[in-house]
Amino acid sequence: MKESNSKKTEQNKIKDECFKQTEWGNIIGFGRRFVLMAIDNLGEERKRFTELIGEQATEAILYSSGKRAGMQASEKMRKIFMNNLDSSVKTTNDDRVDSNLEVAVKHLNLADDMGWGYVNYYAVSKDKLEGEIIDCWEAEAYLSAYGKKSEFPVCHFTRGFGAGLASAYLKKDMEAIELECLAMGHKKCKMLILTKEAFEKIKK
Ligand SMILES: [Zn+2]
Repeated sequence: MKESNSKKTEQNKIKDECFKQTEWGNIIGFGRRFVLMAIDNLGEERKRFTELIGEQATEAILYSSGKRAGMQASEKMRKIFMNNLDSSVKTTNDDRVDSNLEVAVKHLNLADDMGWGYVNYYAVSKDKLEGEIIDCWEAEAYLSAYGKKSEFPVCHFTRGFGAGLASAYLKKDMEAIELECLAMGHKKCKMLILTKEAFEKIKK
């Protein structure tokens, strides 16, 4: 499933250029501090939230905070990607790809360098992006905390992140749906990012 090395080479370059450690050991990337944290800690955190406030409220909080994080990330990364635009991005409409859409896909594809899983996003059009994540951290965190499969998709922060990032780059309100999830027993997590209008229609 691994893609050509060109994607990796470019991502490694961006990562190497952007992540530094201070003399104290703090990890600074894209002007912000990052931490390494075990996913089972994050899974436990999610589980406690669910016990306290319920599944629906937990989903809403994770999704909206993911969306906000995606929007913030796009602000930080836009310049870097705009300076690194080339044809290595994988899209299904190569001839008329909009540069914002191209950058959004590039940015989403970078997530595997952050340890989120192996990520592949495809720009189907300016109104729709499809993606898949192998070994998604959020699904694994869920399985670790609950010790059993879920009956529904669980990667709400990740899904929200994709929606926020796409919203910022495409300058329209985008939402995301998780169609398949590792935590449900599927081989990978499959995401669909689409306009708010299309999302509302599907939800009905
Ligand atoms: Zn998932």
